[in-house]
Amino acid sequence: TVRTRFAPSPTGFIHLGNIRSALYPWAFARRAGGTFILRIEDTDLERSTQAAVDVILESMAWLGLTLDEGPFYQMQRMDRYREVIAQMLAAGLAYPCYTSAEELDRLRDAQRERGEKPRYDGRWRPEEGKQLPPLPAGVKPVVRFKNPTTGSVIWEDAVKGRVEIANQELDDLIIARPDGTPTYNFCVVVDDIDMRITHVIRGDDHVNNTPRQLNILSALGQTPPIYAHLPTVLDANGEKMSKRNGAMSVIQYRDEGYLPEAVLNYLARLGWSHGDDEIFSCEQLVAWFDLEHLGKSPAQYDPDKLKWLNQHYIKHADDARLAQLVQPFLSALEVDWTQGPALTEVVALLKDRAATLKELAAAAVIFYRAPDTPLDELAQHLTEPVRLALAELGQNLSNIEWLRTTINATLKAILKAHGLKMPQLAMPLRLLVAGTTHTPSIDAVLELFGRERVLAKLATVTP
Ligand code: GLU
Repeated sequence: TVRTRFAPSPTGFIHLGNIRSALYPWAFARRAGGTFILRIEDTDLERSTQAAVDVILESMAWLGLTLDEGPFYQMQRMDRYREVIAQMLAAGLAYPCYTSAEELDRLRDAQRERGEKPRYDGRWRPEEGKQLPPLPAGVKPVVRFKNPTTGSVIWEDAVKGRVEIANQELDDLIIARPDGTPTYNFCVVVDDIDMRITHVIRGDDHVNNTPRQLNILSALGQTPPIYAHLPTVLDANGEKMSKRNGAMSVIQYRDEGYLPEAVLNYLARLGWSHGDDEIFSCEQLVAWFDLEHLGKSPAQYDPDKLKWLNQHYIKHADDARLAQLVQPFLSALEVDWTQGPALTEVVALLKDRAATLKELAAAAVIFYRAPDTPLDELAQHLTEPVRLALAELGQNLSNIEWLRTTINATLKAILKAHGLKMPQLAMPLRLLVAGTTHTPSIDAVLELFGRERVLAKLATVTP
C-alpha cells in the first residue's frame, strides 16, 4: 500500500512552494487509500524551532492536509540512527575515517590544482590486501559509507524519467560526524526505510541526494521507493520562490483573506494538471491526482490567478460560512457587526465582487458605520428635480412592504413620474445612506440598511 511523507525542516517559514511538497504526497496517498506521514527534519539544531513546527502544523491544518502518522521528529530517533550506523560498521558497509580537516583541505587543494573535482580519496577505506594509514592519536573518526566504486545508480524518476549517475561521481559519504551524530542524507534513508515509504515526492533541490540515498538503501538490502522530484516553483519575477525574494508564507495568505480551497486548488495546478481543468474541488484532486501529469518544467507563481480562484470560491461559498470567516477581518477594522443588518445577508450581497475576505470586510463596513457622506459630492447631485424626487421617495417608502422588489418598484415609479434616470437618484441615495457611490444595486442596499436609516437620511434633504 502507498505510504508517502512530507519531510520539512522546521526553520520558520513555509511558502506556497514548500507546502506544495506536502499537498502532492498527501493527495497521492489519499487517492490510493494509503498513508500520509509528517516527518520533521529537525537535526539542524541552530535553525530548528518548535515555533516553526507549529507553523507547519497550522499551515497543513488550514489546508486540510490531514496526517495518518506523525509528526515524527528526527531528533527523537537518534538512537535508531546510531544503531544502524553500528550495524553498518559491523557489516563492513561503512568504516571509520581518521582524515583530519587539514588533511582533507590539502587533498582538495591538490585535486583542484590538477583540475579535478574535489572528493575524498578513500584513504581509510578498507580493501582486501590494502594497508591502512597508521592510526593517528587523539583523532575522533567520522564514519563513511562504502559507496560502490564501479557501475552507476539508476532510477526511473516519476518526473524526470530515467536518471543515471556513475558511482565514480560519488565519494564515500560521511554518515556520522566525529561526535557520532548522524548526517542528513543518512537519517533520511533510515527514516524512509523505517517508515516504509513507497513514494518519495519532494522538491528537485534534493535530486543530487538521491543517488547517495539509493546506494545506502541498496547496501541495506532495501527495495528503493519511487522518486518524484518536483520542479521548482518560481515567483512572479521568475526567481526561485523564497522568503528572501519576498514570498508570502502560507499563513499570510490566510490572513490576507484567501480561502483554503482556493489555495489548494491553485497549488494543485502549480505543477500538475488534469486536462484543461482549472477549477476543481479537493475531492476531485484526490480522485484525479497522479504522478504521470506532474509538470516537468518549473512552475511560475501567478498571484492574479490565485486571486481569480479565490474570487470564484468566495462567490460560491455558503453565506453562513462566509459570515463566520469574515468576522476576524471586520474585527480588525473595528466594526461591530452585531448592530445592523444580518452579516449573512451583507456577505450574500457583496460576495460577487470580493476577491478576498479582506475586500469583503472592507465592502461590508458601510453597513455598520454611520455614513461619512462627502457633502460636496452630494451637493452636485442634488439638483432641484432630484430634491423633489427624493422627498417624494421618502414619503412613498414609508409605508411599503420593505423588500428589494417593492423598493425597486417604488424607485421606478418616482423616476417615471419625475422624468429622471436611475443614476440620478441612485447616486445621491448611495452617498446619503452609505457615504460612497461604490455599492451594489441600490434597491438591495436600501433593503439591507432598513427603512429607519433610509428615511432618516432622506429627511436630511429638503426640497
Ligand atoms: N527536509 C527537506 C526539506 O525541507 C526534505 C527532504 C526530503 O523530502 O527528502 O527540503
